[in-house]
Amino acid sequence: MNCQNCKMMTEDGCSLCVTCELRFAGTLLRLARDVMPLHDSLDATLHPGGHSPVRIQTATPPTPIRLDVLDLIDMLDATARELWHRLDGIDALDWRKDKRNEDLMATLIACAGHPKLATVADAGLYMHVINDLARKVDTVLDPPEQRREIGTCELCETMLTAGAADQWVTCPVCGREQRAQTVKLRRLKTLCWDDSERGSAADISKAFAVSGLKVSRKTITTWEQRGKLPRHADGYAYCDVYRLLIGPDLTKSVR
Ligand SMILES: [Zn+2]
Ligand SMILES: [Zn+2]
Repeated sequence: MNCQNCKMMTEDGCSLCVTCELRFAGTLLRLARDVMPLHDSLDATLHPGGHSPVRIQTATPPTPIRLDVLDLIDMLDATARELWHRLDGIDALDWRKDKRNEDLMATLIACAGHPKLATVADAGLYMHVINDLARKVDTVLDPPEQRREIGTCELCETMLTAGAADQWVTCPVCGREQRAQTVKLRRLKTLCWDDSERGSAADISKAFAVSGLKVSRKTITTWEQRGKLPRHADGYAYCDVYRLLIGPDLTKSVR
């Protein structure tokens, strides 16, 4: 038989290969972990960014509950219960026979650890639906446009991402917790002390903005036009821009 997800050959009687089964179980467990932050995100006065929430005062009185999040929780709840019924062989039309009264988190965990997860006939379909829901949950908890790359982990060099309000970041690879500001400054230092680091005006402007230094793309190109900033074949040197940026005679025009 072929795995319904990755199409690789797999054991007879299995709908998912071992790798996909593990991945499916992992996604279910991750969703179980997200149930609480998701419920917290229902509060519309809470700034989105589930792992380091900050309360905000909105200009107009907000809807007390975020309906998109409510819908998402409902959908996740229905899907998890349906999957549990499939796994446990309870007929969908006879769902009242299910005497379990578990909450969503427990249901997700129970599904992840179910011995039939890889053998149930439509495992691939459920994996697809669950992956889709997991992506939506991620968008609610950590809106992608609010997280950006701030620099590399001090231990393992993995690129770390953080929201604008995050004080601390945890490396997803080695688990090291570090101050977001330290990571940003270390990145800036590497960029500016190594005079072989080059980038376009846009790259440099973006990298500096992350570390709290404001220099627009246009300022950089203007410096070049005025003969203050050399342009190399592979772009501007970060250290040159940095020197101009903090140089005393230019402080006024930049700030
Ligand atoms: Zn597979
Ligand atoms: Zn790390």
